[in-house]
Amino acid sequence: MVIVTVIRNVPKVSCPDCGQEVPVHRLETQTVAQREGFTTNYRCPFCRADFDNAAQHMV
Ligand SMILES: [Zn+2]
Repeated sequence: MVIVTVIRNVPKVSCPDCGQEVPVHRLETQTVAQREGFTTNYRCPFCRADFDNAAQHMV
């Protein structure tokens, strides 16, 4: 019997739109200038949904 160990040390974000778990390095990021500085928007590579607070959806 072969036991495969999958190392799950990559932080992932659960997409609020399609529910897919997206490794953070696969998220498309977009930095947007705003009056009070910059914010970073994230886009799901699966459903193209935008969401701005990735940390909130960490799994
Ligand atoms: Zn999605």
